[in-house]
Amino acid sequence: MFFYSLKNQKSRISFQEAVLTSLATDGTLFFPEKIPLLNYNFIENIYQHDIYTIAMQVIKQFVGKDISYNALYEMIIKTFHFDIPLKMIHDNIYVLELFHGPTLAFKDIGARFMSECLNYFYKVKKCGFLTVLVATSGDTGGAVAKGFDQIDGTEVIILYPYKGISKLQQQQINTLGNNIFSVEIQGNFDDCQNIVKKAFLDRDIKKIYNLTSANSINIARWIPQIVYYFLAYKQIININKNIIISIPSGNFGNMFSGMIAEKMGLPIKYFIASTNINDTIPRFLQSGKYHPFLSKQTISNAMDISNPSNFARIWHLYKKDINKLKNKLIAYPFTDKDTLSIINLVWKKYQYILDPHGAIGYLGLKEYLQKNKNTKHTSESYIFLETAHPVKFVDKMPVILQKNIMYLKQKFFKKNIQKKNTISLPKDFNIFKNWLITRTN
Ligand SMILES: *Cc1c(COP(=O)(O)O)cnc(C)c1O
Repeated sequence: MFFYSLKNQKSRISFQEAVLTSLATDGTLFFPEKIPLLNYNFIENIYQHDIYTIAMQVIKQFVGKDISYNALYEMIIKTFHFDIPLKMIHDNIYVLELFHGPTLAFKDIGARFMSECLNYFYKVKKCGFLTVLVATSGDTGGAVAKGFDQIDGTEVIILYPYKGISKLQQQQINTLGNNIFSVEIQGNFDDCQNIVKKAFLDRDIKKIYNLTSANSINIARWIPQIVYYFLAYKQIININKNIIISIPSGNFGNMFSGMIAEKMGLPIKYFIASTNINDTIPRFLQSGKYHPFLSKQTISNAMDISNPSNFARIWHLYKKDINKLKNKLIAYPFTDKDTLSIINLVWKKYQYILDPHGAIGYLGLKEYLQKNKNTKHTSESYIFLETAHPVKFVDKMPVILQKNIMYLKQKFFKKNIQKKNTISLPKDFNIFKNWLITRTN
């Protein structure tokens, strides 16, 4: 399939080029030239198909001929090598657990698929060595580090905010070594993202490096994520046509993937964008004004993003028509206080432990049910995404629950592992640039 840039719909670029470059030369994101519709019978009979067949059906539409069928199938097996269960918590409210991958976050799926693509382009298509530059608010860094660890033809440089990420996240980013490097930036996530954006445009850097990004601006991140919306559908007990999905959202990559799944034929009635107090999108749907504030730190730190990069794709998908968008998308923001109290409540009532991000997803459904008390809910199914395992955020969890997940901590936290390939820098682009240019000498 071909992709065009959001600025120039006449442009055409292959899947491979789009993955290798991340961003169009005009600085905007790539968008698929068409959205393929899956066969109606395939979706109706989805429970007959295994995870790999479903993933293949979805992903091959976007890849086209750039990767051979067999190679793509191998990549899919390596990407979807863990469970993605859908569990009912109560009353037709389901959780889709996306955290069973190696770094305990849904981003494992996109990061692994992307690294497999780059590896294939390097080995089979003989593309040059690539440096993957990535800014992280926490989970991307870990997933990308793990997904690219010792992948031939690539090195990864991860920028993360020095106060913004949890200990386990730091460990995942800073201890692998080999082709994985990290830079702690003395600033917040937006500072990291700004440095990365500037690096992509910098001529001196381009002379030395072949750069690509592993953030969800890269199409190889969100394409495999479309798959798990179909997997969720497959696992609903009483399939009905009114599915409402709440997605804890930061950069809105997950949301965009879900919206593509719906356009491909999945019957989803509404999406709920559940955010923390970084609430640009809920405010936008209310007022029609897109006005990001500075991002604020919360306990759901992977969503501390005020200017979500994938929103440009969503806006394009809905033809820049706010009413069309509002027919599909609802958005609610929640505070840390709301988050902690719902974690407690869900544990007490249902013995299910939410992480702070999933908790916000659950809150979105609750809010929807509250606001739509008079509709007949028996014909609706509700799903929220649990985007990370609670142990990742153990230091942010209510104290009583910390005890319940402590035992897991030992499994995931390793003691006294040395930091490798890591450095701390101020939030100044020129200092970063200087470091980047001189490190190759
Ligand atoms: C990245 C992340 C999110 C936000 O996902 P987007 O696709 O950026 O909206 C939510 N929860 C967790 C745990 C994450 O790591």
